[in-house]
Amino acid sequence: MDTTVMIEKHPQIKDLMAEQPIVWRNPDYGESAELPLTRADIFDAVVRWERFAPFLAVAFPETAAMNGVIESPLLKLQHMQPAWEAINHQSLAGQLYLKADSQLPISGSIKSRGGIYEVLKFAEQVAMTHTDLTYMDDYSVLATPKYHDLFAQYGVIVASTGNLALSVGIMAATFGFKTTVYMSHDARQWKKDKLRANGVTVEELNTDFSSVIPVARAAAAKDPHTHFVDDEGSRDLFLGYAVAGVRLQHQLKTQGIPLDDQHPVVVYLPAGVGGSPSGVAFGLKMIMGDAIYPVFCEPTHVPSVTLGMMTKLNEKIAVQDIGLDGLTAADGLAVSRPSRLAGKIMRTLLLGTATFEDNELYKYLTKLLDTEQVMVEPSAAAGFTAIAPITNQFPELAGKNVTHIVWATGGDMMPESERQLDYDLGRKLLLAVEGE
Ligand SMILES: *Cc1c(COP(=O)(O)O)cnc(C)c1O
Repeated sequence: MDTTVMIEKHPQIKDLMAEQPIVWRNPDYGESAELPLTRADIFDAVVRWERFAPFLAVAFPETAAMNGVIESPLLKLQHMQPAWEAINHQSLAGQLYLKADSQLPISGSIKSRGGIYEVLKFAEQVAMTHTDLTYMDDYSVLATPKYHDLFAQYGVIVASTGNLALSVGIMAATFGFKTTVYMSHDARQWKKDKLRANGVTVEELNTDFSSVIPVARAAAAKDPHTHFVDDEGSRDLFLGYAVAGVRLQHQLKTQGIPLDDQHPVVVYLPAGVGGSPSGVAFGLKMIMGDAIYPVFCEPTHVPSVTLGMMTKLNEKIAVQDIGLDGLTAADGLAVSRPSRLAGKIMRTLLLGTATFEDNELYKYLTKLLDTEQVMVEPSAAAGFTAIAPITNQFPELAGKNVTHIVWATGGDMMPESERQLDYDLGRKLLLAVEGE
């Protein structure tokens, strides 16, 4: 690809190539567009989750207290807000919240939305085809040996850097599906161990993640009884994430958080392949409309969705095409090529993106633990890095009473030793800037 021509058209590509943090304003934001998915698709997913709630409450006892509903709390960050202001040397107009998907059951990450939903949908389809199950049955029956034996004749395959593997792998194996997860060499050992302990076959490939997906896809294509969860373009994954729009709308209301023209809500989502943040953002916009503003956050070394949307080449361009190495310490964000759905559906729905340097993540995760006793994984702290650049560069948000929601995408399953390493790194970095 000729980068000189690209820079002429999109001058910010020069900053991307120099690994400079940027804010990209989406020029098509707010235009009308024909979308391939609708509100009706979201509500179809909402009722499928409801049908499965009795099953989930049985299969995962930790969800029983919530009656089998898999949802995370929206936490007000009263003590983190002044810490954020100190790090950024500026005051924050409005309120700061954390959407703690790090605490979602089963995978401890946002992947419990899309990944689990796609497996539920596949299980329902198999059960409906081969048994007398009806939509009004109590789905806890799906946890019985009769169904386990049926599901054992089918397979589920997914390629993942980690968290999607945990959600799809644990869910599929619990149903009884023959479950195989393809992972790249850099995937964390503890994630592989946990999957194997749950009866999942883990195939490790000595390549980077983008090359793992075609291998997994090819393996699934060989067996008509095997379902492939396609992180680069699955509609079901996307809709599983989109249900968050319905859930967050309710949380805003019950927590008395206003949402209107004078009280905008900005939601900061870390993006890897772009599937989970796009699914969530789509749900938020379809359910709540104009006053909610989704923003994506990406590492300066892996701005894959930013590059895809800016050039409108979407999945046809990878960060290596502009000379970047695609490396980041943030698990889940080291994806060089965006999904086929993300850029297309986000074209008119995404306010913009902001890129950040990896070190920033650690400062915020350490402060978050210090001030609020909430631990997240590095990628899940990405939202904190985008608040200042976005509020400073979008005058339409100035002077308004903004609610800022950082979407904390993962962390609860991290072993203590990893948490300690991340926390200590953040301490060291803070000490260097604050002399704390
Ligand atoms: C998967 C993941 C993301 C990014 O999601 P994509 O769908 O790849 O864009 C961000 N943070 C965490 C913790 C994740 O697991």
